[in-house]
Amino acid sequence: MNANQPIKRIAIFGSTGSIGTQALEVIEANTDKFSVEVLTAHNNDELLITQAKKFNPNIVVIGDDKKYNSVKEALSDTDVKVFAGEKALEEVAAMDCYDLMLAAIVGYAGLRPTLKAIDNGKAIALANKETLVVAGDIIMRKAVEKRIPIIPVDSEHSAIFQCLVGETRNRIEKIILTASGGPFIGRKPNYLVNVKREHALQHPNWSMGAKITIDSATLMNKGLEMIEAKWLFNLKPEQIQVVIHPQSIIHSMVQFEDGSIKAQLGLPDMKLPIQYALAFPGRIKNDFTRMDFKKISTLTFEEPDVKTFRNLGLAQTALEKAGNLPCIMNAANEIAVFAFLRNRINFLDMTDLIEKTMNTIPFIEKPTLEEYFESDGEARNFAADLIKL
Ligand code: NAD
Ligand code: MG
Repeated sequence: MNANQPIKRIAIFGSTGSIGTQALEVIEANTDKFSVEVLTAHNNDELLITQAKKFNPNIVVIGDDKKYNSVKEALSDTDVKVFAGEKALEEVAAMDCYDLMLAAIVGYAGLRPTLKAIDNGKAIALANKETLVVAGDIIMRKAVEKRIPIIPVDSEHSAIFQCLVGETRNRIEKIILTASGGPFIGRKPNYLVNVKREHALQHPNWSMGAKITIDSATLMNKGLEMIEAKWLFNLKPEQIQVVIHPQSIIHSMVQFEDGSIKAQLGLPDMKLPIQYALAFPGRIKNDFTRMDFKKISTLTFEEPDVKTFRNLGLAQTALEKAGNLPCIMNAANEIAVFAFLRNRINFLDMTDLIEKTMNTIPFIEKPTLEEYFESDGEARNFAADLIKL
């Protein structure tokens, strides 16, 4: 990065999560390049307070109103402004005090603040893939109108983004999204029906928040990522291929129209794509563990088992039919994962719930933003009612 560049003012929406905390590690190591202006958390007031005391942001937002007093009191001897509630997330997203939003809230809850940030011309480092799954057309259209970059943080999309640097004139034949396969790779439904939440939360390669870890175990994560890739890179469904690569070393690939394939490789460590997104278009020297080819002698690839991991098939349908179907799928999936994490339904029930919801909520080919909001609510209510949540 150019040493003379001004300090980039960062707002981390979802600072107490897996992505948020790793982003703060990156920023801590680069205080000459980044400052922390906004931190937000849903209900982890203790961690938010600790982060605020350490990074001295301009503003913190605690999503849960009931935690306002605790945060306000703990920060009373600082200059940090404290806000609370869902609406405050949007209001703060619209403020002038920062340059780049790291969108690291999990799920649909990240959509509205991110929209506000784009409307106000902020650059976005996007971890929250659900935002693009729900309303990718609107997000990307607004980003083009406002001439702001949406820089992916998701490791696969960061890999593709990095492969595309310098290739603006060249056509993509297809992208190859790699998937670790999760903890249940090779397993069949008779095994999956009995897996418990503790087991599903053990990802072999990545340490992440609970929702994305379950999504990785069901392969819904890869389904969401196909839709995310479609919007980020303006692709047709048939240009997106998923390959199981259990070592998680190749983070994804781009095949150009001459057949040449570019890949981005590295150890599975989210700090690298986070740092890349914060620093883009530059790169920053760091001391992250380097990959050693003497230790990694085998890279393998296989077809995903879509008969067992049916979520991938559902996501393929959503990707192809488009309209509000990805939004419906995402809402049902959020309910399904929530219920699974509370031991209310079993591992395979999640897919049935998503499928039923996708088959029931009315299809809209070209939804408005309001219609996306409505579809999300309808799908959530329908799915929650089905399992009496
Ligand atoms: P996490 O559960 O660890 O953290 C989520 C953050 O969002 C927390 O700060 C939490 O306070 C906040 N949050 C949760 N619900 C909220 C709500 N209703 N309103 C406001 N804030 C809320 O999640 P994570 O693993 O850090 O993932 C964040 C996003 O990044 C997800 O969309 C995920 O798919 C994506 N992502 C994560 C990883 C990873 O390695 N963790 C990798 C790629 C993409
Ligand atoms: Mg990913």
